[in-house]
Order: sequence, then structure tokens, then C-alpha cells
Amino acid sequence: MLQSTTAEIKPRSALRVNPAKTCQPIGALYAALGIHGCMPHSHGSQGCCAYHRSHLTRHYKEPVVATTSSFTEGASVFGGLANMTQALTNIFSIYNPDIVAVHTTCLSEVIGDDIPMMIKKSYDDGIIPSGKLVIHANTPSFVGSHMTGFSNMTKAMVTYLSDRNGSTKNQLNLIPGFIDPADMRELKRLAAMMNVNIVMFPDTSDVLDLPQTGIYKMYPKGGVSIPQLKSTGDSIATLALGHFASYAAATALNDKWEVTNAFLELPIGLGPTDRFINALRNYAGVDVPESIVQERGRLLDMISDMQQYFHGKRVAVAGDNDNVIALVQFLTELDMKPVYVITGSPGNHFETRVGEILKEQVPDAVIKQNTDLFALHQWMKNGPVDLIIGNTYCKYIARAENTPFVRFGFPILDRMTHRIFPTVGYMGAIRLMDKMFDAMMDHKDRECPEELFELVQ
Ligand code: SF4
Repeated sequence: MLQSTTAEIKPRSALRVNPAKTCQPIGALYAALGIHGCMPHSHGSQGCCAYHRSHLTRHYKEPVVATTSSFTEGASVFGGLANMTQALTNIFSIYNPDIVAVHTTCLSEVIGDDIPMMIKKSYDDGIIPSGKLVIHANTPSFVGSHMTGFSNMTKAMVTYLSDRNGSTKNQLNLIPGFIDPADMRELKRLAAMMNVNIVMFPDTSDVLDLPQTGIYKMYPKGGVSIPQLKSTGDSIATLALGHFASYAAATALNDKWEVTNAFLELPIGLGPTDRFINALRNYAGVDVPESIVQERGRLLDMISDMQQYFHGKRVAVAGDNDNVIALVQFLTELDMKPVYVITGSPGNHFETRVGEILKEQVPDAVIKQNTDLFALHQWMKNGPVDLIIGNTYCKYIARAENTPFVRFGFPILDRMTHRIFPTVGYMGAIRLMDKMFDAMMDHKDRECPEELFELVQ
């Protein structure tokens, strides 16, 4: 399908071909699902909401619920107050959530709808039942990406809900970034192994990775609870994972309640996971148990066993900024060479940080934020790689270039187990290595001449 991509690169300034990002509301909707008893609400037209729901459903393979203000021509001209009022009336009477998390769309942003005013009016008019909550995040899709939307909704959880009763609780806040439910579950497992109490927000484990019981629950048992969110102002500290997804919420919490912040990268690979474990240890004042030392040792053993196959391999990486920053560190730990590193999301920190990571091992790496998969493909035409790592859309490039491919990040639309198996932590790193090794070895077995077809590696 992409066989006709050319190697000749022409300058482009106002054209995206095969974007490596999606729109803000998708991130906001995903974050909202990480609050227990929450109904995400899309203030815009039905088409946007249908797309956001279906995109998330295709990645998580679970039914993703959300409601919409269902704009038509009238709302587009006169504003969406009437639609919002009717929507909130219906949502609370039909679906009875504990909380509604409103995000905007391009249309309501262009109109300039005043969401805080609408929410206040709904409280004043008794549309929102006593004891129920409505929060919001502005998520204009013509700026940023789904990462921005996730960040904005996570920050809204702090702005609207965090509180302080004055006595510090023996707990840490953990803002996990835009990662899968399996990753969130893994972070909780590691914290529990260290006897550290955490309030993780958002938390989509047990929401989008549910066991099959035969019974559908609109509000599954998972998600951070509202009392937990309210308690975040009393926590010892906040660990914020990922500059782009978590910085804003952690900063808002510090501004509001002076909760100490620790900004970390996503714990993907050895070094970033070490730093995460160390932060848990330092802030909670606990020791690292032998069971975690053992897990780390297993990862080290795998690295030493596989190093000869990874050494010097040229890799193209595409994905979300926070996730790629962490992954690139892991690839350098494996002695691989990430020669092309891109994200579709804007933000200069990406190029600065990836440049720092690669300056010794791959000084001539091409690193670009706010770009697209077409650019990546053209670079590969001019200098092939041994492996591509990225979301499902990269499979077209992998096929066109006959290059081994590992699915990583969001969205993965054509495989199933990413919501079950983590990529964070020591065990997640082993899984990633396994996938990379298999992809390269399967390719070699398929393509190599008969005399190099080996039984044993
Ligand atoms: S980019 Fe804007 S118009 Fe398109 S789906 Fe997202 S919110 Fe709707």
C-alpha cells in the first residue's frame, strides 16, 4: 500500500501525511475512564464522540462508554448550553454516574462555549443531583494531541477534586501518564511489593482490562475513587511519570496544596525503572524487597543473554512523546541504535531529551517532534533500519520495506494482548525484549539463505 513512497524528500510546512497522533478528546476520554463511577461526556457533535469511542474500543477491546451533547446546526450557531443542560439531565437520570467529566471538541471550542458557566448553572438549577459531581477540561483538537487531552483531564482532577484536611497521610500520589491498563496494574503491583500506599490517578486497570464474567457493568470496580482524589492534597509527595502527560497535574497539585513533586520518565527499561523504584523508596521511606531485586536480576540476565543480537541494530521509533523518550533509553541500554525517532505530538522537550539520551551512542540520529509517519518512511528509504517500533499504523511501512516490526504504544488496533501484558517495570522490559527478539529472528528465519538457517540461536 505504501510501495510508492518516494525517497526524495521535499520540504513540507502545512501538510501531514499519515499523522502519528490523534485528537485531544481521545486522551481526555481515556483519562476520565480512570475515575471510578465516571461518565465521560463529549461536548460537541455525535460524530466526534463516535470516533473517540470506537478508536479507544478498538485499542482496548472493551466497550468504551461516553455521552455527547449531540450538537446540530442550531448549537453550532447559538452555542451548546441547551444541549449541555439536556445532556446532564439525561445522563444523571438514565446512567446515574457519580461524576461526569466533560471535555470539549473542535466545534464547541470554536464557538467558545463557556463550560464552567454551564456547569455552575446546572448546579444552580438543580440539574446536577445532590452529591454528584461534574468536572471539565478544555480539549481543542487543533492544538496538541491526545497526550495534551490526557494531561488536561488529569489536571482537571486536581483542580476540581483535590483537597487537604491538614494532616499528611502515609501515601504517595502517582500520576502514571498515558499508558495501558496493564501498565497501571504493574505500577500498582510494584508499589504494593514495596508496601507503599499510592493514589494513582487516573487508573484504568479494572476498567479496560476486565475479566469475562458474563455480566456487563457500566461502572466497573476499577478507577481512582473520588475520596482518594480528594485526599491527594494530604499525600507525602507526587510522582509524575512523563513530562507531557503528567507535569501539568503534578504542578497544579503543588500550586494548590504544596505537595512535593518528583518528575520522572516512564519506567520503561532498566534505568527508568530503577529511578521509579528509587523514588518510591526515598519518598515512602521503605526498603527495596528481595523480590524486586530478583526481578531486576532476571532482566539483567536477559539483557546479557540477548545483547549480541541487539548490538548495533538500527531502529526507527515512532509514538507518543513520553513513551518514546523512555523507550529510546531502553534501546540504548541494549546497545541498539535508534537512528530515527519521531512523535506526532508537539513539544520541544521531546527533541531536547531524546537528543541528550542519544548524543553519545547515536550522535547523528534524526529526532523530530510534531511530524508524521510519511517523513519516517522517507528517511528509511534513504537509510534502512533493522527494526521498526511504533503503533499499528507503522505496519504499512514495515510491509513496504520488509522490515521487522514491534507494536508499541497507542493505538494498537490489530493485536490483542497489549492491555494485559505490561511494558513498564522490569517484567515489562523483558516482554519488550522478547517481542523485539522474536520479530528480528522470525524475519531472519524467513529471509536468510538456506546455509544460514539455524536451529539454535
Ligand atoms: S479533531 Fe476535532 S472534529 Fe475531529 S474528531 Fe477530534 S474533536 Fe472532532
